[in-house]
Formats: sequence, structure tokens, C-alpha cells
Amino acid sequence: MTANKLEDRYCRRLNYLRISVTDRCNLRCIYCVPRDALPRLAHSDILRYEEILRIVRVGVSLGIDKIRITGGEPLVRKGLMAFLQRLQAIEGIREVNLTTPAVLMGPLLDRLRATGIRRLNISLDTLRRERFARLTGQDCFEQVWDNIRQACEMGFAPLKINVVAMQGINDDEFTDIAALTRKRPFQIRFIEYMPLGNPNLHHDPFISNADIRRRIASLGKLERVERGVDDGPAERFRLAGAVGEIGFISPRTHHFCRDCNRLRLTARGHLRPCLLSDRELDIKKLLRGAADDQALAEMFIRAAQSKPSRHQLNGIGGKSVCAQMNAIGG
Ligand code: SAM
Repeated sequence: MTANKLEDRYCRRLNYLRISVTDRCNLRCIYCVPRDALPRLAHSDILRYEEILRIVRVGVSLGIDKIRITGGEPLVRKGLMAFLQRLQAIEGIREVNLTTPAVLMGPLLDRLRATGIRRLNISLDTLRRERFARLTGQDCFEQVWDNIRQACEMGFAPLKINVVAMQGINDDEFTDIAALTRKRPFQIRFIEYMPLGNPNLHHDPFISNADIRRRIASLGKLERVERGVDDGPAERFRLAGAVGEIGFISPRTHHFCRDCNRLRLTARGHLRPCLLSDRELDIKKLLRGAADDQALAEMFIRAAQSKPSRHQLNGIGGKSVCAQMNAIGG
């Protein structure tokens, strides 16, 4: 086992790297990317797979052992399956998972399973076809739903479903969404909306997870699920007798920063110490400038050292972050 050398100034050990492999996405979720002129990174600005693998190997030598592939929509990038296979083969990596809006996932599930990936995070904010089309710009709810069912039948697990909670937009569906867990092994995750440089929403649709819990109280008592060592920031619960779980991720009303174990590698090749702070370190420039692995490792350590103690999105009216999620990866 690799000694963990990525410890920040607040004694948090960082073992988790989230990698955005592309800023491109086939959806235009209202809270995530602009509807009209989407600024796209040039091909040459995006890290090549070979470059990502090298950065990962350096990270692993410092104690990274868990990876999430995200985007944009990772499945739109050519050659992803071969890349995932190579990633999984890196000695020292314990877990690789993938975040996707799941539109393109169906025909790729066999190949995805062959890469060894079992853990999926799927973004789905509504169960209504017309609303899905309005929120994402694509009329393909049924396709997404079929793909989720297929992934479930094929044994992908855990199957997490990320629901960005938005007042006046999908708050009338929280009960229906949470009730899915009674019969299906989904791990629903309600995520408090974060104000992240999104140009389509002209008001802040924030609703707290405490409010969501009140809204779904009619479903019955929520029993707390014990936290595992490797758990993310979600508080986890289960309805009595349910096969799935309901979780709450509360970046605005709770500070879970104390347990943060992550760094992010953005599509443009920057190490980002904190999702909710715009500070980034340009590891691509270093790498393309023929730096050796030692220099890359030093940049990882600098990124770890520059993690803030906590983010600044404190409640409604908190500080806004300029960068867009599709380039950072959620
Ligand atoms: N595009 C892929 C997808 O939709 O699954 C992966 C990237 S997306 C940026 C990752 C996650 O971030 C999604 O589950 C999305 O719902 C969440 N997200 C994006 N913008 C957000 C915001 N402003 N507040 C809260 N969550 C957000």
C-alpha cells in the first residue's frame, strides 16, 4: 500500500481524485451550462488520455486510490472505454466510478462492465418527461429511465441518482423520487443547489435539505444508515423496509469540508483544490513543458496545501464561483 503523502494544512488526507475528461455534454441542464453560446475548450486544451494516466500514476504514488470520471458527459469522449480499462489497471487504484446523465449509456453498458466499473452516479432531476426536456434541452427521459433500469438489472451497484433540488422547479417531485427507493436499490442523493456561474437561472432556486426532509415526511420515518469509512458527504437514510437509500448532500447548509478528501483534475488540465473556490494549479502546462514526475508530484502537494479549510458558500447570498461545473466536473 502507498503511504499517503497528500495531507493538507488541516490534517485532511486526500485520497480521491475527480477527473473531468471533457467539458462537452449532450445535455444543457439549466443550472449547469449556458443554453446558447457554450464556450468550449479547444481540443488541444483538453488533456489527452495519456496525460491523464500519467497524472494519475503520480497521484497514486502519493496516496490517491479512488477516482471518479466525470465531465461534461464522459461518454461523449471517444476512446473512453479503452481509457477506463487502462485506468483500472493502474496498481494502487482501489475504486473507479463514473458520473453520467445516462442518455448514451444503454448501448455502452456491456463495455462499461467489461472495464471493471460497477459504481455509477446518474444525474436525474425529474421523473416527468416534459419537465426533463425543459430542464435538459433534450426530450429523452424514457431513454434515460430505460438505461437506468438496464444498468440495475446488469448489477451495477451502487447506483446513485443525483437530484439537484430546486425550489419552484422540481420540488413537487421530491416525494415521488424518494419513494423510488422502496422497491429499487437506488441511492437517491438530494443535492442542495449551488450558485456556480450558471447563466440560465435568474433567481436562486435554493431549498435546504432540512426542507426536503419535511416535504418527504409523509413517506414515513427515515432510519439513519451508519456511515462507512469511505463515505462521501451524504447523510444517508432508509425508509423502513426499503431496498434503496435516500441521502442528502448539503453544501450550503452544512459544512462537510472537515471530511473533504478530494482534489479535482479539470478538463483543461488544472488541479483544483476545492470545487467551490476558483483557485487552480496548471499541471498541464508543467507536463507539456517536459517536467519530470517529481515536479508533477510537487504540484500535487502544493494543490493539497492550498485547500481552503472550508468553502465560502454560506447560505443564501453566499459567494458565487465563476467556473462552470461542466469544465470542473461535479
Ligand atoms: N454531466 C455529467 C452528469 O450530468 O452526470 C457529469 C458532470 S455534472 C457537473 C456532476 C453533477 O453535478 C451532476 O449530478 C449535477 O447534477 C451536479 N451539479 C451541476 N451543477 C450543479 C449546481 N449548480 N448545484 C448542485 N449540483 C450541481
